[in-house]
Amino acid sequence: AWTKLHEMLTSTLLVDITIDGEHKQLPLPVVRNMANEKDPQLRKTAYEAELAAYKKIDEAAAASLNGIKGEVITVAKLRGYESPLDKTLQDSRMDRETLEAMLQAMRESLPSFHQYFRTKAKLLGHKSAQLPFYDLFAPVGEADMRFSYEESRDFIVKHFGSFSEKLANYAARAYDNQWIDAEIREGKRGGAFCYNLHIVGESRIMSNYTGSYSDVSTMAHELGHGYHGECLVNEAFLNSEYPMPIAETASILCETIIANAALEQATSEEAFAILENDISGASQVIVDIYSRYLFETAVFERRTEGALSVSTLNELMLQAQKDSYGDG
Ligand SMILES: [Zn+2]
Repeated sequence: AWTKLHEMLTSTLLVDITIDGEHKQLPLPVVRNMANEKDPQLRKTAYEAELAAYKKIDEAAAASLNGIKGEVITVAKLRGYESPLDKTLQDSRMDRETLEAMLQAMRESLPSFHQYFRTKAKLLGHKSAQLPFYDLFAPVGEADMRFSYEESRDFIVKHFGSFSEKLANYAARAYDNQWIDAEIREGKRGGAFCYNLHIVGESRIMSNYTGSYSDVSTMAHELGHGYHGECLVNEAFLNSEYPMPIAETASILCETIIANAALEQATSEEAFAILENDISGASQVIVDIYSRYLFETAVFERRTEGALSVSTLNELMLQAQKDSYGDG
């Protein structure tokens, strides 16, 4: 119930925003996507409007988080796990040493990402050598690559075909049979995911497609998950579950096929944009995910003692972001 409430709140939240003197109420994903806009003022306005909108649901969101985390702590303890992390590791069939090695590699790479953020700040003309949060996803360079939804289909199917005919056929089927919900609309949540319906041998993909190169890359990623499901169609249902590290291998392979293909036919301006998009994506997986790991670790620690207030949750998140984003 807490998870449902949290999803309902974040998917129906409308953001008050003033663009060109006109006041509007827009869905959260629409406003978040403005982080990719060329206009620097729009990126900043959208970010500030997004933060202001969260105040409308902060108490209910905090109560949901407290409920969700509280249950995980209680259930993990009752089932004899050392900690909630221990349960997650067992579910993912991962040793703690493996996780520690990954986190250590992430920590060691942080200075390189901080340098990337500072370089991007300079490229965007910021005087303080630090990149504002609202400019993390700002496009740099002159290239403006756009793909209509149909163009994304043809591009992906063609280049998946260079790896495997079966993979290309799967992608074409997903597009042509409308297994993909790509449009942005009110009441729909942000982000993207793929759900494999083993019982009917099909998959469904949710995304928020705006036509940027990064959206094409996301589509390739989700189709990778879908194809993974397709490969398991003849397995017994109980044999079709797999842990996240394996899941993301399929999706990242497909993302990489598309990035390599795009690079091959790109002008040098476009290649710059594609590579920057690549580093930006990596910075999310390394730096931002690390901040969430720090946040979650702190939340689990404090939640054991009792429910956390909105201001405590905000402080913990801010501290986690400072620790991972550093001087970048
Ligand atoms: Zn994925």
